[in-house]
Amino acid sequence: MKIQAKCDTCQRDFLLGQIGPESDAPGRCPFCGARFSRHYNSQLIEAVENAEKASAYFLNALEKVRSMETGFQIDEEKLAGAVMKHIKAPS
Ligand SMILES: [Zn+2]
Repeated sequence: MKIQAKCDTCQRDFLLGQIGPESDAPGRCPFCGARFSRHYNSQLIEAVENAEKASAYFLNALEKVRSMETGFQIDEEKLAGAVMKHIKAPS
């Protein structure tokens, strides 16, 4: 799953994969070049890569459970709600 974000400086949307270690400009906005998380930039580059890998791993694991004719139904609404609760930024 691609995780999209918005640059605070130029307000453009980008994918976290565009600022990961394999990108052209790790830790920087692909549009305006703003350096993200100035004090934790190197850790951020690793963290965004981990977030993308973990989201893909999570979805693959869930799909595997679904494919097993388990005899139960995953409560998708509650799962989505729980995920939203955890990923929503505190306001
Ligand atoms: Zn930007």
